[in-house]
Amino acid sequence: SKKPVRVAVTGAAGQIGYALLFRITSGEMLGKDQPVILQLLEIPDEKAQKALKGVMMELEDCAFPLLAGMEAHGDANTAFKDTDYALLVGARPRGPGMERKDLLAANAQIFTAQGKALNAVASRNVRVLVVGNPANTNAYIAMKSAPDLSRKNFTAMLRLDHNRALSQIAAKTGKPVSSIEKLAVWGNHSPTMYADYRFATIEGQPVKPLINDEEWNKNVFLPTVGKRGAAIIEARGLSSAASAANAAIDHMRDWALGTKGKWVTMGVPSNGEYGIPKDVMFGYPVTTENGEYKIVEGLEIDAFSQERINLTLKELQEEQDGVKHLL
Ligand code: NDP
Repeated sequence: SKKPVRVAVTGAAGQIGYALLFRITSGEMLGKDQPVILQLLEIPDEKAQKALKGVMMELEDCAFPLLAGMEAHGDANTAFKDTDYALLVGARPRGPGMERKDLLAANAQIFTAQGKALNAVASRNVRVLVVGNPANTNAYIAMKSAPDLSRKNFTAMLRLDHNRALSQIAAKTGKPVSSIEKLAVWGNHSPTMYADYRFATIEGQPVKPLINDEEWNKNVFLPTVGKRGAAIIEARGLSSAASAANAAIDHMRDWALGTKGKWVTMGVPSNGEYGIPKDVMFGYPVTTENGEYKIVEGLEIDAFSQERINLTLKELQEEQDGVKHLL
């Protein structure tokens, strides 16, 4: 049987953590034959650590055959020791009266410390996914704080936007989500993201002529996908934790196990693709193979798409400028 791998999860006692840990441990992320050791991080606060203990009691009570070990931590420098996968979910939520720059600064502090800890103690091949918001900028900060690790090992979660876009296209066309391929989501995990079905196909047929409705694209599709998180809070009274956890599972599974040529969306550091400045943590269509992602290149960017890409890039650059002095 396979040797266990180490999976670190931060914010492990939070909402997303609760929807995530049981699925990791049942084998939905890394495969039904891959034992895992969970290295769970929560803030050192007594209440959070106690809640984490409660989650761990439930994990024990699932008697998962793949759970090869489990640890609770209050410090990233121990939580990330030798970790092969790190899911950075915990982040500072916006409090009452808190401005965007305060939020950025509070998170910059968390992700600088976590990047340094990964740099110091994680496996040299650690694969990092940042879920905590602002996810792209937090991932950028962690990457910049870990100079000894490859830039390619740091990613941000755009997969929820990708999955939301898939479900909207499926509803519009009346086709199953599983039949849709070659969808791309560009940019920041925020309402400025640009979900782009110009290249998408259903059973090999192009989606664009099937929908053939530019007004729907602009006035229904993009706003629906962009504001879906707020719509769920409005309906449920709580944020979209289960679908966020599901997207994190999808992202890591596809990164680790490969997409067999299918496109998925990941937030990854640019090397200049599509004119995005180097290191900007940008949502791109990618394929993955042997544990590596590859950005899909050579796609034509029309005027409308360029406008949308410029908008989401501008927002990301403003976020990154806002934390530059802290790095
Ligand atoms: P959640 O588990 O609901 O959310 C965690 C983070 O994921 C937030 O930044 C949230 O952003 C983000 N997120 C990304 N996509 C989504 C989505 N689709 N829907 C909802 N959230 C999304 O938060 P909780 O408050 O329940 O739990 C967070 C936990 O993290 C707490 O237990 C806290 O103690 C811990 N924490 C741990 C830290 C650490 O380990 N060092 C540091 C800070 C906090 P948004 O705010 O925009 O909703």
